[in-house]
Order: sequence, then C-alpha cells, then structure tokens
Amino acid sequence: MSETIFAKIIRKEIPASIVFENDDVLAFRDINPQAPTHILIIPKITEITKTTDISKENHSLLLGKLFEAANQIAKQEKIDEGGFRLVINCGPDAGQEVYHLHIHLLGGRKMNWPPG
Ligand code: 5GP
Repeated sequence: MSETIFAKIIRKEIPASIVFENDDVLAFRDINPQAPTHILIIPKITEITKTTDISKENHSLLLGKLFEAANQIAKQEKIDEGGFRLVINCGPDAGQEVYHLHIHLLGGRKMNWPPG
C-alpha cells in the first residue's frame, strides 16, 4: 500500500501539532477535530495499516506503548478524570481514511452512544 500522510508527519516533512513523542509513538492534534480534544496516536512504524495487520508476536509491546501514551496524553489534556473515548476505525465500513494504524483520543465533551 502506498505511503500515507502520517508517514510524512512522522518524518516532519509536513507540519502537525505534536503533543507527545517517544522512540515508538507519535501523537498530534487531528486537523478536523470532532471534540475539544481530538488527538491521533500512531506507531512510528508504518507496517500496520489497520488493526487486522496486528500480530501478537510482532506488536504486543507496541500496542501497550500506544495505550500508555493515550493515558499520559489524557492526563496532559486534563481529561483523564472526566473521561474520554479511544476509537480505532478499521476498514471502509468503519470510515477509515488513513491506512496507518491510529487511535483517536477524543474528550472534553459528553460523548453519545451508540456512535454514528
Ligand atoms: P480515520 O478516518 O482514518 O480513522 O481518521 C483519519 C483522521 O486523520 C481524520 O480524523 C482526519 O481528520 C485526520 N487527518 C487526515 N489528514 C490529516 C493531516 O494531514 N493532519 C492531521 N493532523 N490530521 C489529519
């Protein structure tokens, strides 16, 4: 699959509002926010295009790091106590637009259920 816009953000070839970074994980504000806090948390490796690419052998540790980052960012954004939503879209029916695994961290407002 061809390279995504997120690969360019990782390499800092295009700007993004980065809120968190370590060796494995990058997080930046969504360009089209759906909540007062809307942050995308992504692995720096590009091999996982969607959740169905994930394997226990290769990615268990990385998944933990993504969720750890989500918790840390929720604290930074002061939405950890009020609550927040983590969303991963997988494939066309879920509305996935960018084929580089990403967790949406949404918060700062009351969420509805079921989602649309
Ligand atoms: P998906 O629909 O694939 O789960 O989510 C992709 C998300 O990436 C969307 O919420 C969209 O607004 C966001 N997005 C797409 N292009 C860019 C970009 O160039 N910069 C940033 N910061 N977000 C983007």
